[in-house]
Amino acid sequence: MEPTIYFVIPCYNEEAVLPETTRRLAEKLQAMQSAGLIGKDSRVLYVDDGSKDKTWQLISQFHQEYPWVEGVKLAHNRGHQNALLCGLMTAKDRCHAAISMDADLQDDTDALDQFVTKFREGCDVVYGVRNKRDTDTWFKRTTAEGFYKVMHLLGVDVVFNHADYRLMSQRALEALSEYREENLFLRGIVPLIGYRSDTVYYDRHERFAGESKYPLKKMISFALDGITSFSVKPLKLISNLGILISVLSIFGLLYALISYFAGVAVSGWTAIVCSIWLLGGLQMLCLGVVGGYIGKIYSEVKARPRYRVEEYLEQEKQEKGP
Ligand code: UDP
Ligand code: MG
Repeated sequence: MEPTIYFVIPCYNEEAVLPETTRRLAEKLQAMQSAGLIGKDSRVLYVDDGSKDKTWQLISQFHQEYPWVEGVKLAHNRGHQNALLCGLMTAKDRCHAAISMDADLQDDTDALDQFVTKFREGCDVVYGVRNKRDTDTWFKRTTAEGFYKVMHLLGVDVVFNHADYRLMSQRALEALSEYREENLFLRGIVPLIGYRSDTVYYDRHERFAGESKYPLKKMISFALDGITSFSVKPLKLISNLGILISVLSIFGLLYALISYFAGVAVSGWTAIVCSIWLLGGLQMLCLGVVGGYIGKIYSEVKARPRYRVEEYLEQEKQEKGP
């Protein structure tokens, strides 16, 4: 029997791209079904992440028009990672595997066949990895690649140039549901699952329409979330920095004492002021980093629900599901 595949697509204010996305996926689904790659119960599952525009109206309309479109509406905007998780958890008990992709058609739909083929060959996780980043601006490319490198240096196991275009089998999704952290960074968690995985290379296109929902501020906070959720190295760096500065200050002290006894002590105002500022700054920085981790602990301890589903538009099944 062909596997039932769910295509999970988080959408936040995506009215400009949804009609085209749906049209392209319609073609793709048709082709994949005719080729015998995926089963008749395969679905596209749109997750509306609390959009303020007509996204949900469009999803409901497509749900009525096409028997393969389903929709989940979140009560609030909870961010891409949470919306994606909600979609994956909704798909978990209904499919053999789920593929997550962006609504804006940046993830090349032609790569989908390879995802499913690898899954049918026995992979539980298939990562989509970009060939090149020439459709990104210089700034986005440099910061994004720098981010992967920093993550690597900090000892976090992330797949280079892989975003959230990936396939996960039902049992990988089951495993994912056991990770209960509030500060969610899926591309760091999925490699932890550890089942057999493979990669598919694809060309990343430009956003079909509309604007990026990831402005610089969100990107930075996402990157920091990724680092502080997976690595305690920054805390260690702080301690090392503290040790280094203490050692240096011993030399400083020696120098001051020698100058004093040699009778060449100057008024010393500059040195004092500089050290006050330097140390003050360093201490603030270190407190900030420690505070970042404490903030994380605070939100993890509260263990609030990560999203709330307001509505779910389901489709009738044709075959007996998984
Ligand atoms: N998205 C979301 N919630 C948000 C922000 C973004 O569900 O709060 C979705 C968005 O609709 C898109 C995907 O996440 O499907 C990736 O966002 P975008 O394309 O804007 O990011 P970029 O490709 O510019 O990094
Ligand atoms: Mg995009």
